[in-house]
Amino acid sequence: MSFIVGIDGPAGSGKGTVTKAISNKLGLINIDTGSTYRCVALETLNRGISIEDKEAIIKVANEIDIKIETKEDGDRIYLNGKDVTKEIRSKEVTKIVSPVSSIVEVRLRMVDVQRKLAEGKDIIMEGRDICTYVFPNADVKIYLDASLEERARRRFEENQEKGIDMSYDEVLENIEKRDYNDKHKEIGSLTLAPDSIIVDTTNLRIEEVVEKIIGIIKEKRK
Ligand code: C5P
Repeated sequence: MSFIVGIDGPAGSGKGTVTKAISNKLGLINIDTGSTYRCVALETLNRGISIEDKEAIIKVANEIDIKIETKEDGDRIYLNGKDVTKEIRSKEVTKIVSPVSSIVEVRLRMVDVQRKLAEGKDIIMEGRDICTYVFPNADVKIYLDASLEERARRRFEENQEKGIDMSYDEVLENIEKRDYNDKHKEIGSLTLAPDSIIVDTTNLRIEEVVEKIIGIIKEKRK
């Protein structure tokens, strides 16, 4: 029997950082579902496929092999055996990942991949539809949120650290667009599960958010 913690929330809500910290502290396998959609987007770009060509993108989703390795110094994502951890965060991938992830057939396939990655393990999985669609029976369900401006500020700083060249306005516009797309997907849209616990991170430090969620997990695990 596996133990599943689902963390949903919009871009920049702190999911990535918080999930990684909790995974390290509690020894849960960390599965970032956004990276699976990013792999489809990257392979779409690599093959020179237009974003309009849905059939070709579905083919990409069905053909690619994705592996995730949880490591203390940061997880590694492998696309067809190649480490693409950095590449999938590029500006180009970020621009097309939301429309790519809106294609129903792409979602169905990625949800399958995500469930397989979790099989038999104690995991913490972050995304948009984990508590509503991928694992509606997750043991712990969290919805992380923060104001749009705060989320853009965080993502901008993160990009600066990673050497990704995007202005604050570009980041803000991209996040706004992604919010809209993420909330209007045919399946797996970003919505709050009725039994999810909302954690607003706008005015909290990372450590505070981590401690709060660890408290909730420990209570459930008793
Ligand atoms: O979390 P991250 O920003 O890396 O996710 C990239 C994109 O993948 C999101 O903008 C969203 O459109 C999509 N996504 C999704 N469902 C998930 C995780 C991510 O649609 N469970």
